[in-house]
Amino acid sequence: MTRANLRVLMYHATYADTQSLAEIDKPDQPYAVTEADFIAHMTSLREAGYAFVSEGSVLDEQLHAQPLVLLTFDDGHRSNAIFATNWLRAQNLSGLFFITTDWIDKRSHYCTADDLRSMHAAGMGIGSHGCSHRFIQDMDAVSARSELAESKSKLEDILGVAVRSISFPGGRCGPRDIEIALELGYEAVHGSQFGLHAAGDNSLIKRLPIRQGMSASTVLDLCNPSSALHRKVAIMTRVKTTVKRVVGNGVYDAIYRRLSA
Ligand SMILES: [Zn+2]
Repeated sequence: MTRANLRVLMYHATYADTQSLAEIDKPDQPYAVTEADFIAHMTSLREAGYAFVSEGSVLDEQLHAQPLVLLTFDDGHRSNAIFATNWLRAQNLSGLFFITTDWIDKRSHYCTADDLRSMHAAGMGIGSHGCSHRFIQDMDAVSARSELAESKSKLEDILGVAVRSISFPGGRCGPRDIEIALELGYEAVHGSQFGLHAAGDNSLIKRLPIRQGMSASTVLDLCNPSSALHRKVAIMTRVKTTVKRVVGNGVYDAIYRRLSA
């Protein structure tokens, strides 16, 4: 069995001050981190000896001897273009940005088509996060297929390159959705199940969610499967997954939204 050595960190938006925090949708704010925290996370990961890899390394089984980090960002918040891309490029690093394609050039505070072209030109990976951000697992097969196909082709039209990666909105996906994604030509399928991933394994990629206010040492603990924090979050995630299965994604999301409002 290959060793799970890849930590795929799941970021969303970043913000500089309270005004830029207010531009982030309320339910997404718990996952937004300050620019200063983001930089502190990167510095301590680097000092701890992690090698930062780019999108394609997920599929590279040669890499499984080293401790690796892949940075991912969900939703396509404009801070991805304005801050994260510029900071990463200056450090010679790359991130993988999952874009909700219906929001391109439509919603303020989300990436425009020009932003995506600049991000790609700066060496960033661009993947799909569906068209509408509705949960693909809850759709009938025809709608699921069209969300996965249309978001891919829209990004390919904008960028002029093949889109290889997807992250499912809300992390909600079943075996049917993964199968459709692979059929459509996605090579790397990211969920939001908690845990480490083995580079070269093309099953659903587990990720480590980064939340607002997490210190650099908390992020390092999250990356360390033998830390108490990592084990605790793994158990809590299993409980949440069971609750979602019992009450359904829609009800779970409504409860979550009420609690974060
Ligand atoms: Zn999302």
